[in-house]
Amino acid sequence: MEKREFQAESKKLLDMVINSIYSQREVFLRELISNASDAIDKLYYRALTDDNLTFNKDDYYIKLTPNKDTRTLTVTDTGIGMTKEEMENNLGIIAKSGSHQFKKENEIKDGHDIIGQFGVGFYAAFMVAEKVTVISRSIDSEEAYKWESTGPDGYTIEPAEKEEVGTEIILYIKENEEEESYDEFLEEYRIRQIVKKYSDFIRYPIKMDVTES
Ligand code: ADP
Ligand code: MG
Repeated sequence: MEKREFQAESKKLLDMVINSIYSQREVFLRELISNASDAIDKLYYRALTDDNLTFNKDDYYIKLTPNKDTRTLTVTDTGIGMTKEEMENNLGIIAKSGSHQFKKENEIKDGHDIIGQFGVGFYAAFMVAEKVTVISRSIDSEEAYKWESTGPDGYTIEPAEKEEVGTEIILYIKENEEEESYDEFLEEYRIRQIVKKYSDFIRYPIKMDVTES
């Protein structure tokens, strides 16, 4: 197992994300779904130029799995996946795109607004999760890897088992605190509500098993 530290800048952003105000926490799901959709897009574009690959739209989807027993919410995609190096380079440091760059250039004082409006990408997961595990297998690799982090302290990477190409992101939802509850992020109706609010335009199916009541 390899233990690594986040870059100083990433650490700062993570602290900001973790302390984000209550009303904005729900956007973590928008960020994870948008990444999953991007990953499927990448596979689609690869298939356009690679004759060995076919892209059958029905095989590509995003799946949400809440589990109250394990207190986890898992976001699975059948996208292009990540190699070990990609996990290292893309999850370990602040990406150049979007809000990260925006914030740097504009020196906005109130970071909270940024989270709501522009998103902070993958790190948004830490608004609701005390631990995040990413298991991924790239289309370019026979091996799968597991990336894991409990926040600003750093992260670990180790080999993992995964048959299919794609990515699984497991959020260990925070325990409730005195005045703040995170239970809603394990509720099907609430998850559906957030998806509807932010991810209605996503081109791939977003699935969730429904429990009968
Ligand atoms: P952005 O989406 O703006 O690039 P993010 O912080 O949301 O920034 O994601 C960082 C990077 O991590 C992505 O650009 C991508 O390379 C990688 N990544 C995140 N989620 C996934 C995923 N589900 N599948 C493949 N790669 C991913
Ligand atoms: Mg993103």
